[in-house]
Amino acid sequence: MSDVVSSGVQAYIERGKELAAAEAHRRATMRQMKFDTIAVHGIYGMEAALANQGSLNEPIYLSSAQHFECSDHMEAAVSLQMPGWIYTRIANPTVHYLEETLALMEGYGFDGEVSAYAAASGMGAVFIATSPFLMLDDSPIQNGHRSMARPNLVATPRCYGGTFMLFTERYAKERGVEVRWVPEPENIDAWAALIDDNTRFLYGELPSNPTLNVIDIQALADLAHQHNLPLIVDSTVATPALLRPLCHGADIVVHSVSKSMTVSGLGIAGAVVARHNIPSRVGPDELRENFALYAKVLPARDFGPSISPFNAMMTINDLRTLRQRMDYISHNAMQVAQFLDQHPNVERVYYPGLANAEGHHLARRYMQLVDSNNGTGEAEHRYGHLVSFTVRGGVAACRAVLDQFQLIMRATDLGRIKSIATIPAISTHQQQGDGGRDLAGVPPHMIRLNVGGEHAADVIADLEQALAVAG
Ligand SMILES: *Cc1c(COP(=O)(O)O)cnc(C)c1O
Repeated sequence: MSDVVSSGVQAYIERGKELAAAEAHRRATMRQMKFDTIAVHGIYGMEAALANQGSLNEPIYLSSAQHFECSDHMEAAVSLQMPGWIYTRIANPTVHYLEETLALMEGYGFDGEVSAYAAASGMGAVFIATSPFLMLDDSPIQNGHRSMARPNLVATPRCYGGTFMLFTERYAKERGVEVRWVPEPENIDAWAALIDDNTRFLYGELPSNPTLNVIDIQALADLAHQHNLPLIVDSTVATPALLRPLCHGADIVVHSVSKSMTVSGLGIAGAVVARHNIPSRVGPDELRENFALYAKVLPARDFGPSISPFNAMMTINDLRTLRQRMDYISHNAMQVAQFLDQHPNVERVYYPGLANAEGHHLARRYMQLVDSNNGTGEAEHRYGHLVSFTVRGGVAACRAVLDQFQLIMRATDLGRIKSIATIPAISTHQQQGDGGRDLAGVPPHMIRLNVGGEHAADVIADLEQALAVAG
């Protein structure tokens, strides 16, 4: 193909610029709105509705591909010189509505441009957010040679079991990446000591699943930026209703949107949300300029973990009430945590909202209900719905308690409107083995409880009768 753009293609590129400008205008308008308004509307406004037969809701484009007006249109769109969606693995209008909503919500209060990529699952998002940084060193050649040293990443082991396995099995064992776990992630000096010339990114999770560990995002971001590295944060448990890491210096946020964001549990989804102009020691300029877009149109296009438009719509619909839900469920979770904290058959409660919890002071700094006011001009603190606890009497007692629940469902899931419990050591964090669980601080007799939207008294009553079998 010739590199000279034909006049026909050029006309489409010009039309594309108008479309992009109109969307940028819409995005700028929505950025002036409050969080709830963004959650309810995203960028789907009256004009978009009228262009879609007046449909009040974002339509689900269950179509694999886009039809083009002519070959010039096709060439302009497929070469990404004008907005288009081409093929659902690459992009899709319904997925686009979701991505724009996620970027607006996660970027709320952040002074700068933010973009998002929606993946088929949270693990798809963690993979797409991290793997581009593990490429061969393509930085400028120095002293006649380029480093062929093993790349490394520095990460908290207090993370989701799937992330632990991705890093240790897929990256370390299969690809030779060095994974440097920080045994005490609260200690910033411990992170600093592990960074060297071959480090590619820092990776954190807060509050972590299942130990509710809270790290100092701002201090970690400062450290990462001193070394020209990006800080990637998994913020699944908090959601943007309670915490927006980009506002505290993080560069990339990943989510299992399958969890609290998609409360109905009707679809799996993931997200990579990034601010523009991130630091990175490797990769082309496009990677730094707009990481989420780069990830979407290049690595994700080739790896293929794209989300179904149907799941995207399920998610859009659930996101509309995120703030109210996180507020209400956090209230419930706090009552449950306080109940557990005084129960004689409970050894230890992990909940960042408890004043005696490790990391409570950091949780107070970072976790607040968006757009709330406690009456004295301060935001209300809310700590989410995930509460973990260890049972007195060890593994047998722990399993007996889980088996005794009559209302709380036994499942490896969280973020649901229904209360759900699991034992991480035999489910979410089973594959990583005893050594991996020790590193992650996951005891074998820990129950992870997702507090749902039932009345707190009923959840507490179920816990009370179940805990009676322990001790
Ligand atoms: C569940 C989870 C993931 C993985 O997400 P999936 O949607 O299940 O692929 C990643 N991080 C955290 C914190 C999670 O809870």
